[in-house]
Amino acid sequence: KKKIAVMTSGGDSPGMNAVVRAVVRMSIHMGCDPYCVYEGYEGLVQGGNFIRKMEWNDVRGYLSEGGTLIGTARCMAFYERPGRLTAAKNLILNGIDALIICGGDGSLTGADRFRAEWPSLLEELVSTGQLEAKQVEPYKHLNIVGLVGSIDNDLSGTDATIGAYSALARVCEMVDYIEATASSHSRAFVIEVMGRHCGWLALMAGVATGADFIFIPEKPREDNWKEEMRQVIRKHRDWGKRKTIVIIAEGALDRHGTKITPEMVKDLLADKSGLALDTRITTLGHVQRGGTAVAYDRMLATLQGVEAVKAVLEATPETETCVIAITENKIVRKPLMAAVQETKKVAKAIEAQDFDKAMSLRDTEFSD
Ligand code: ADP
Repeated sequence: KKKIAVMTSGGDSPGMNAVVRAVVRMSIHMGCDPYCVYEGYEGLVQGGNFIRKMEWNDVRGYLSEGGTLIGTARCMAFYERPGRLTAAKNLILNGIDALIICGGDGSLTGADRFRAEWPSLLEELVSTGQLEAKQVEPYKHLNIVGLVGSIDNDLSGTDATIGAYSALARVCEMVDYIEATASSHSRAFVIEVMGRHCGWLALMAGVATGADFIFIPEKPREDNWKEEMRQVIRKHRDWGKRKTIVIIAEGALDRHGTKITPEMVKDLLADKSGLALDTRITTLGHVQRGGTAVAYDRMLATLQGVEAVKAVLEATPETETCVIAITENKIVRKPLMAAVQETKKVAKAIEAQDFDKAMSLRDTEFSD
């Protein structure tokens, strides 16, 4: 019987539990033994009780739980080879044939590195006498598949990451709450949402709530943005709107690479010689990650979890390591490293203030 392990790693996102449930139950359905690695890479390095066999009933109720019930962690040891060596040893000692990892681009980068190093890790385990040659023989190739769990929707090559639509729903809900006060008092609110290199959450929340002005990292405003913002908001107020909502992604910049902060925007809105609005700042923070997954994320996580198990069972030594994506409503396999590298290019382009490139690399619905 093949042993298939699943783990969640990096920042948690709604839908990760649905992934674990799908992988565990699909593995059983396919006649395999499912395992969970608790606490992400930390559990892989620690071994022992962190790697546990799962049964069908162990994941009951997982669909409607937020966060990740098997835990996640940032693991420093896995950045170093000795950590990965111990992780390899633990996988072999537990007889794990395949590993399905749900995490962000960091976790997937770690996964790819682990897979690339695998043959040399086995050699070292044998040459240092930690394992015998015949023990490692059945594990010549590391069978790894990635799933993208991230609220930022920041991975290239997939239309949606697991958790992004839940976070979007949460942001919209929070903006609705804030709007009640804004309208009542005729106030302005500057709302900061998550997204360091990715403006998807901010942009989509802005569209979905009818925000007056939006700032995202990939497409900075023109140099006259202050004047433009004043004019737009003035116009909306003149039309009788009693509330003003400005949404800023946490990584928003101006054309010269200077961070646009909520305080800067607040000062402009409140400026006595300009709009003179009673203005408050709300940083949404971790509520964006919390709560249960919306139906879309449960569906995405379940379909992708099933596909991940199929992918590990169909893998041959020649198969390229894949990540499960969704493009145009189809669940597809994509080369893992290419997806991670494309994602990193966007962050690099933003850091280099090459915003045209950043926008052209974004293959999502807001490329114009
Ligand atoms: P996310 O997966 O949400 O992007 P991180 O970037 O923190 O989150 O990555 C999660 C974990 O993945 C890290 O704590 C580390 O253990 C592992 N990891 C990330 N990048 C690498 C890397 N370049 N090499 C090895 N391990 C990595």
